[in-house]
Amino acid sequence: MDYIPYGTQVIEEDDIAAVAEVLRSGYLTTGPKVAEFEEAFAASAGAKYAVAVSNGTAALHLAMLAAGVGEGDEALVSPLTFAASSNCALYVGAKPVFVDIDSDTLLTDMESLRSRVTENTRAIVAVNYGGEVCDLDTLAEIAGERGLTLIQDCAHSLGSKYKGKLSGMYSGMQTWSLHPVKTITTGEGGVVTTNDEALAGKLRLLRTHGITRDESLFEDANEGGWYYEMQSLGYNYRMTDIQCALGLSQLKKLERFAARRAEIVARYDREFEGLPLRTQLSPSWSEPVRHLYTIRLDDKSRRREVFDALKAKGIGVNVHYKPVYLMPYYRNLGYAAGLCPNAEDAYERMVTLPLHAGMADEQVEYVAGAVRDLVE
Ligand SMILES: *Cc1c(COP(=O)(O)O)cnc(C)c1O
Repeated sequence: MDYIPYGTQVIEEDDIAAVAEVLRSGYLTTGPKVAEFEEAFAASAGAKYAVAVSNGTAALHLAMLAAGVGEGDEALVSPLTFAASSNCALYVGAKPVFVDIDSDTLLTDMESLRSRVTENTRAIVAVNYGGEVCDLDTLAEIAGERGLTLIQDCAHSLGSKYKGKLSGMYSGMQTWSLHPVKTITTGEGGVVTTNDEALAGKLRLLRTHGITRDESLFEDANEGGWYYEMQSLGYNYRMTDIQCALGLSQLKKLERFAARRAEIVARYDREFEGLPLRTQLSPSWSEPVRHLYTIRLDDKSRRREVFDALKAKGIGVNVHYKPVYLMPYYRNLGYAAGLCPNAEDAYERMVTLPLHAGMADEQVEYVAGAVRDLVE
């Protein structure tokens, strides 16, 4: 059996043809594929507006800026996530405040969240871990009561639904990643979605240096055909037409990829019934497209051995994630162990198994059999 990565892209001939077509066209960047991709992506996310950016981290950074989060503010975030979810608060001079998770669903625990809101809280970064969506109605209610901006980190949850609704139907902003391990890919890529026209305008401006060529937005008089204005301090966070063409082609496959992921998850679930381990449970509201399949061993003293043994069998196991605040950089900022006990416990027991749309049945069986043999 060849090495089985935990996550990888599925690229087919029509994806390659879509990219080749752009390479032969007049635009490699800031061309027509960008708007076309944004429109299609907004529909898939359930939002009115989509702003394509260079990666999911840029999407989070711009969401923080567009929300007006800055110096002295606090952003609530789960520690069981990729560092970018909380780094975006640091980028703008704000303080990430970590909120513990529910140990069944591995999603933000609402009681812990409520207890960590202060008068400085400005935003919630709700991480839809593993493709399960957070309790959005409760989050939107808390955000509404406190005047907070709700930002969903949807890097894992493209296609997932909450009570039958897509994440983009909610207030605030949603950030997405199109890295090759995610459900669809553009190589590198990200998107911010929102239903708020003013936020969409800010995001577009910030994506491209804070510069606009749109006459209707000019603050000063138009001095001629060459004229453009820089109105805020933005970045070059653009996505290319090459990437957007790949994204358009990949979006058409989202349903098929989601269905395959669901089959694999169902198979793992069946195979692991009765073993001394826990898997991520779906909350009652959830219709997930799962990004990760994680097991947590009852006997945490065996995690390293199980991980190493699976790796030795050519299985691309991983661990998602060491709680962000335990990383050296964060510890140096003053964060310490004990802050979120459920997240720390989940980390110590966890092994992430391969899950991607390109996995063959034999590979799924091989992984499941290897886990059973080791853990039974
Ligand atoms: C992948 C990921 C990101 C960052 O996305 P990039 O496109 O790699 O910058 C952010 N948050 C989470 C939860 C992720 O998994």
